Amino acid sequence: MAKRDYYEVLGVKKDAGNDNIKEAYRKLALQFHPDRNPGDKKTEEKFREATESYEVLSDSQKRATYDQFGFPGIENSGFNPTDDLGRVQQEFGDIFGRGSIDDLFNFFRGTSGTGSRQREQVFRGEDIEASVRIPLKEAAEGVKKEVSLTRLTTCQSCNGTGASAGTGKRPCPQCDGDGQIRHNQGFFSISQTCPRCGGNGEVIEKPCRNCNGKGRVREKERLQVTIPAGIENGSKLRIHGKGNVGIQGGPAGNLYLNVFVEEDPLFRREGNNLFYEQFITFSEAALGTEKEAPTLKGDVRMKIPAGTQTNTVLRLRGRGMPNISGYGRGDQLVRITIETPVNLTAEERRLLEDFEKRTTRRAYPKSKP
Ligand SMILES: [Zn+2]
Ligand SMILES: [Zn+2]
Repeated sequence: MAKRDYYEVLGVKKDAGNDNIKEAYRKLALQFHPDRNPGDKKTEEKFREATESYEVLSDSQKRATYDQFGFPGIENSGFNPTDDLGRVQQEFGDIFGRGSIDDLFNFFRGTSGTGSRQREQVFRGEDIEASVRIPLKEAAEGVKKEVSLTRLTTCQSCNGTGASAGTGKRPCPQCDGDGQIRHNQGFFSISQTCPRCGGNGEVIEKPCRNCNGKGRVREKERLQVTIPAGIENGSKLRIHGKGNVGIQGGPAGNLYLNVFVEEDPLFRREGNNLFYEQFITFSEAALGTEKEAPTLKGDVRMKIPAGTQTNTVLRLRGRGMPNISGYGRGDQLVRITIETPVNLTAEERRLLEDFEKRTTRRAYPKSKP
């Protein structure tokens, strides 16, 4: 294939400034980057062509040589793309990301691969889950709970390295310490992360016995967790960094704590309000009374007016659950139920019959005779 003029490749004029050249290359490189066009020979060739053009035109000396002598001048000047790529990487490393600029290296290096590349791969630890049950009262006040869980922590025997004491790592035999396995496809070679070393290029010489070379061990742990006041049943609390520790110094994952609020025998929760059912007698309802109503914070004296009907709801303001945001509280709603007297003695029965006989219709405006 005949070589195309460098200016033509980048689509810039002969007198283009450095910024124009750089921008033109950046666009082409992103468009034709092998990572974006896997296995496409045509774009590989375009990418190679653009990179070479940029190499020459972005260097004032090479550009002058090229302008004067054309391709032969460049070839004779000992142009070596491999050595010059450091500069491209510095300039464009951020747009390619590390993995792909490495491909760029492979591309120029072919399969002969000189020297091993140090690829420090770190992995974030996995998130884990745990659960805790708390009574309603604790949900109302907020509580510190000790949670038992099992998670992967750093192996103390090897400090997380996975290597047994006094031993180290050796280059991975499968990828010769490169971290990548290459498959040749004509001029270009495709890289894959080495499955043996996971891309690190190193394997452990003698695995730590305590952790089998994993660097992490399963451990039971007891953790103090603060559960905020007002928490809803089924909430998931995220506890930062309390998941499994990372691999090779990577950050730890998070712990997700499921909080279950137990049903309360007295109070039924609806949002931040609490419902409580208060039974009163038939004569208390007619005459009016005072009752001690239980609340989450002790008993409260409650006035029940004369003539209160069943299902009347009395409101004890601010006696409900606190808002989880920390502002305000719900109410306690007391629903009145009039307990109809049962198991009457003969005398009670007689008194009630007497009462019924003497009562006028005024006392029962809704009941038909
Ligand atoms: Zn270990
Ligand atoms: Zn390997």
